[in-house]
Amino acid sequence: TPRPHWLFGDQLGPHFIDPRHGGPDSGAPLVMIEARSVLRRRRFHRAKAHLVLSAMRHRAAELGDRVVYVRADTYREGLREAVGDNGRLTCFHPTSRRALGFVESLGRVDVLPARGFLVPHDEFAAWAEGTNGRRTRLEDFYRWVRRSHDLLMDGDGPAGGRWNLDAENREPPPRGAQTLDLPGPWSAAEDAIDDEVRRDLDRWEREGSVSFVGRDGPRRFPVTRRQALAALKRFVAHRLPDFGRYEDAMLAADPSMSHSLLSVPLNLGLLHPAECAERAEQAWRDGVAPLNSVEGFVRQIAGWREYVWHLYWHFGEDYRHRNALRHRERLPGWFLELNADVVTARCLATVLEQVRDTGWTHHIPRLMVLGSRALQDGWDPAEVTDWFHRCFVDGYDWVMLPNVVGMSQYADGGVMTTKPYTSGGAYINRMSDLCGPCAYRPTERVGEHACPYTAGYWAFLHRHRERLAGNHRMVRAVRGLDRLPDLPELLDAQARRGDGPP
Ligand code: FAD
Repeated sequence: TPRPHWLFGDQLGPHFIDPRHGGPDSGAPLVMIEARSVLRRRRFHRAKAHLVLSAMRHRAAELGDRVVYVRADTYREGLREAVGDNGRLTCFHPTSRRALGFVESLGRVDVLPARGFLVPHDEFAAWAEGTNGRRTRLEDFYRWVRRSHDLLMDGDGPAGGRWNLDAENREPPPRGAQTLDLPGPWSAAEDAIDDEVRRDLDRWEREGSVSFVGRDGPRRFPVTRRQALAALKRFVAHRLPDFGRYEDAMLAADPSMSHSLLSVPLNLGLLHPAECAERAEQAWRDGVAPLNSVEGFVRQIAGWREYVWHLYWHFGEDYRHRNALRHRERLPGWFLELNADVVTARCLATVLEQVRDTGWTHHIPRLMVLGSRALQDGWDPAEVTDWFHRCFVDGYDWVMLPNVVGMSQYADGGVMTTKPYTSGGAYINRMSDLCGPCAYRPTERVGEHACPYTAGYWAFLHRHRERLAGNHRMVRAVRGLDRLPDLPELLDAQARRGDGPP
């Protein structure tokens, strides 16, 4: 009989049991293990725990007799229960270093090359080698992926003649609009499996064995292949056309805007990135969506997502501990508890509330509201990473480290990005309706109405003046410090602030 094959909770799509290209035998028994120890290790958002358990149990129900599904305390115990102490298994390359190390330490698991990404590890390594020590850049990587996967290409050149349409993708939200007025994203109807998951989570919480943050409202994200395909179809039909224009914009009453919300089914392995990019390309070829939107979306999926996945492995384990700016502040309690109600700054309160209620916000609130707050206040980047990992329904180790340590906290000192991503309130005001009735004014640096983002921005530049003055993309901003007559007053107010909610 063929060797059993172990499926992890983020390997739930059909491509993870496909016997072609070196996959498990079509008759191989499958093993899935739900280990409670994972929930004890970190204080997750409850909607995330719900989502992952629901998705795993739905997959097990579909696979029926072919899978041995074990609920155990630890993976080691679960494995013993599923297949005994002896005999070899296979699995596809796990998505975290910790899981890879664990599987290798068992000494009985043959790890097959990673699935669920466009670019295999060895091809990335060869590409990175080919850059000859020049810095690896997203733009170069992305063009290489477009060419090698024939994505959005016309012959040897980019479809439509340009590789990058980002300049068309930075519009503020339409003036006066409270929402983009698009049909809502795909939404779920819960079933008996969700009820069972909820009951289990309630019981574990009552027993005190696990504890969560956030609200486990109605499930919003797909947990089966069929649901994931419906979500993809709905996105391409209704939201993709506006995806580009408003990619960076925020609206208080419209958290999802024209975003896809597909990170969840992608990261659960329910969708393959190739099919997402190809469907978007087809929409352009059919004249249903404009090129700037389609190029923008393909850039996110085939560029950023792949790039982040490979950088996670490429950077090595120490990357997790990078702290180039020596930020050591602990995360304040109100932030850890997602206590949006005590926050005065309207942008932060709105976004924190979205995280509390759904475990999701789009890219710009993550980067320019949550991440920027952490960076300006000097919070420990490893703790910030852990917070994002726990609180976001699409958070996994591989996607967190480059995005939080690198992109958001600049803790790698500029490997992942060329400058720190942070701004004063003016940026938030331009790109959103979040400032509107806020008690603070984006233009005020000091005094009662000083915007915490504006004051925090200048204080950040001041704190890291020496380092940032050497960065050609920051030098002008740093010189701006010399023109602030009220800098001493601003710094004094910052020093007296404490860690209360802004
Ligand atoms: P869309 O805007 O519709 O984009 C389409 C897809 O592109 C996404 O579904 C995602 O799969 C991919 N993508 C875009 N940008 C990135 C990126 N930087 N890294 C990886 N994939 C990307 N993404 C996660 O999947 N999980 C996370 O835990 C996560 N944490 C983040 C934390 C911070 C501080 C920042 C700045 C970004 C983070 N991202 C994360 C990246 C990005 O914000 C999310 O992928 C995106 O907001 C998910 O919503 P969406 O599916 O509607 O995305």
